Amino acid sequence: MARTKKNRLIQMAPHFSGFKPQGLQHKPNVEVLINFEEYEALKLCDYEFLTQAEAADLMLISRPTFTRIYESVRRKIAKAFIEGALIVFEGGNVDVAHWYKCAECDITFTLIDDSVQCCPLCKSTEIKLNN
Ligand SMILES: [Zn+2]
Repeated sequence: MARTKKNRLIQMAPHFSGFKPQGLQHKPNVEVLINFEEYEALKLCDYEFLTQAEAADLMLISRPTFTRIYESVRRKIAKAFIEGALIVFEGGNVDVAHWYKCAECDITFTLIDDSVQCCPLCKSTEIKLNN
């Protein structure tokens, strides 16, 4: 039986479309596709230094699923790095978190549970969608 793939939560999609190796004689003929959930996994662990357990919680996935995604993106980047391949970001099964701004205390935040529409810091309900 086919399992429905659940969407993974990411905080933000990358703001550029990929990477190109420098100094090649020919246009690279190898392309590595990195989807947004892989991008997010790498960002959370190797850029924001979260543990895999913390990152899995943020993305609303199990720890083993996270580990699989994380290993996949590291291998892809190694392949691109060694072989001089293009890296292209592409979609994936993701929901992008909605960012809100509080009118009272001016912080920006996401709501994991959209049913509670208030600022996590001051509990004000004067919040505005920010993306
Ligand atoms: Zn607030």
